[in-house]
Amino acid sequence: MAGAELIGKEELAEILELFSGEKVNLYRYGGGNYKAREFEERFAEYMGVKYAHAVSSGTAAIHCALAGAGIGPGDEVITTAWTFIAPIEAISALGAVPVPVELDETYHLDPAEVEKAITSATKAVVAIPMWASPKMDELAAICQSNNLILIEDAAQALGASYKGRKLGTIGKVGSFSFDAGKTLHTGEGGIIITDDKDIYDRAAEFSDHGHMHLPGLPRGKDPRRAKGLNLRLSELTAAVGLGQLAKIDHILSKTRENKKKIKDAISHLDNIIFRPFADEDGSQGDTLIFRVMDRSRALMFEAHLLERGFGTKILPEALDWHYAGVWGHLLGEYDRYKGVDLETLWPKTGVMLRSSICLNIPVLMDETVINQLIDAIITGSEKIG
Ligand SMILES: *Cc1c(COP(=O)(O)O)cnc(C)c1O
Repeated sequence: MAGAELIGKEELAEILELFSGEKVNLYRYGGGNYKAREFEERFAEYMGVKYAHAVSSGTAAIHCALAGAGIGPGDEVITTAWTFIAPIEAISALGAVPVPVELDETYHLDPAEVEKAITSATKAVVAIPMWASPKMDELAAICQSNNLILIEDAAQALGASYKGRKLGTIGKVGSFSFDAGKTLHTGEGGIIITDDKDIYDRAAEFSDHGHMHLPGLPRGKDPRRAKGLNLRLSELTAAVGLGQLAKIDHILSKTRENKKKIKDAISHLDNIIFRPFADEDGSQGDTLIFRVMDRSRALMFEAHLLERGFGTKILPEALDWHYAGVWGHLLGEYDRYKGVDLETLWPKTGVMLRSSICLNIPVLMDETVINQLIDAIITGSEKIG
């Protein structure tokens, strides 16, 4: 849950400031968006990038990132078969074709599968870090030699890094979400980051009906060069974001500390396989993933954890929203997937996800709860034999 656990008086103070004196402005455009602007500036500074543009959700963020990068009708966009469905929806909303590919052992885009999926219509690769890093060097090299744009939907990985570089800053453009399950929580909200002025401008325009925000012009006279939507972030949301961003280091270090205690205490179990990492030191603390022998054991394990009062996160219970093999309602629109049994397209990924357990590691865990979770995992592993 991360940031959502800590919402309190600091966020409230930011909101109250909005209502004080002449700063009341709940509608964001033009120059009146001072909380959103401040949030963007602080976020860009935290990430070490030139530009940040805040929008209404993480889905809006990847939508704007793709639009800003010039993704449009007919373009093929290679991405992972394991992700929350939002980036697939965004690719689809732009008229482009989502091309999910199988995972590697780190639960991320397999570079070899990406290479196999490239066609003359491929325009971009969207890497989606799931609380840890994909093999970014390999992906960047493939993109470079094939003239593809590397994009990161880092919604699940704010604060994680790869070889010392923050995730979201490695591709041409990165996006983040502030929904309840993410590192920071603002109610609804998202943000894109980039060092590329053109992508930043185009993404910002897309988020505001195409408005180019040229200085010195009244809004009604502001020109446009491409279509857009209203995906703007409200000042209220930005105020919450400022309060949350000030807590990020605490959130990241607490969850990492909690995860380390838990992982150290269960590392001797020989019938669970921890997921390997491209860069473990840079991984997020709020999630712990391991694999058991098969689907039925994963379900037994999950039931045992639930009995002990611990839910799982996405795996195995929320796979329907996170696995390409069950997205017929969306992928069925495309000729290449129509009438195809989707499960047969990503068999390795399906088996891997269905036999995995993903645990949420909260910020707020006292020693008692940590020990209860450790005990639940140890007894769970005994139960599945
Ligand atoms: C959560 C998430 C999103 C969507 O974010 P919302 O703020 O819920 O719209 C997008 N991409 C990924 C990878 C996510 O996990």
